[in-house]
Amino acid sequence: MFATLSDRLADTFKNLRGKGRLSEADIDATAREIRIALLEADVALPVVKEFVAAVKERARGEEVSGALNPAQQIVKIVNEELVNILGGETRRLRYAKTGPTVIMLAGLQGAGKTTLAAKLALWLKEQGKTPLLVACDLQRPNAVNQLQVNGERVGVPVFAPEPGNGTGDPVGVAQASIEEAKRKLHDVVIVDTAGRLGVDAELMQQAADIRDAVRPDEVLFVVDAMIGQDAVTTAQAFLEGVGYDAVVLTKLDGDARGGAALSIASITGRPVMFASNGEKLTDFDLFHPDRMASRILD
Ligand code: GDP
Repeated sequence: MFATLSDRLADTFKNLRGKGRLSEADIDATAREIRIALLEADVALPVVKEFVAAVKERARGEEVSGALNPAQQIVKIVNEELVNILGGETRRLRYAKTGPTVIMLAGLQGAGKTTLAAKLALWLKEQGKTPLLVACDLQRPNAVNQLQVNGERVGVPVFAPEPGNGTGDPVGVAQASIEEAKRKLHDVVIVDTAGRLGVDAELMQQAADIRDAVRPDEVLFVVDAMIGQDAVTTAQAFLEGVGYDAVVLTKLDGDARGGAALSIASITGRPVMFASNGEKLTDFDLFHPDRMASRILD
């Protein structure tokens, strides 16, 4: 991801090399090229506009510092603005002060929620937590089984409806899982919810009902970064329909242009908290805006 954007920006900065100071025309030309690079990477238009305006304004106003030449100065500004649109500081999980921390996952089918649930459980386990996975995706026939298989692989128990016993009620399962967590002293509960292929009212309602029943400490919206601009549209629909605290980007290992990853925090006002970048259960970490910006500008 971001290969084309990285190359494009590198070319843009190359044109500035060797310049003693930047003229108004240099700044305009650079801003135009950055705009094209971002649009080609599929970044949402309002984000592109804001980004370019900020870079332009800062490039004009910047004091010529002794340490950096004009090209380096522009790279520094673009770097800082990238960190900015990616959400600024690294957002960390907020744990409940008392009782188990409840994390609810929401998103479309195929976004990578079930995989992510297990990745998150493993990650938490490595931080010394004792998570419980909860299978509330009773929509997709294989989802409960998939979570059980992954739970076993990461050594984390899975709370699931017993076969033939109340399997149709995800809200009931979610509620019961909190009691189970308290009984068995799990300090984090990860609730995997159902997705659909597209945004629909019933799906939103079910997710909202689960949310109301378990009052999560964090609702995480899981989205496939490969679906480009659709990721932003879906993110907005879930924000209105369910609401969430942060975003998890999946499939960052893909070769998509990366626009979704760059737009989503800025458009939704919700930070990206985790990034999932592969099918292996260890391909997962906190999302660091500064590292992502450096990767783009590498
Ligand atoms: P769900 O329907 O949202 O629960 O999605 P799944 O967890 O079943 O994932 C859908 C597909 O995406 C599966 O084939 C996963 O192996 C794959 N997948 C999930 N996360 C990633 C990722 O970060 N990178 C890649 N390449 N594939 C992923």
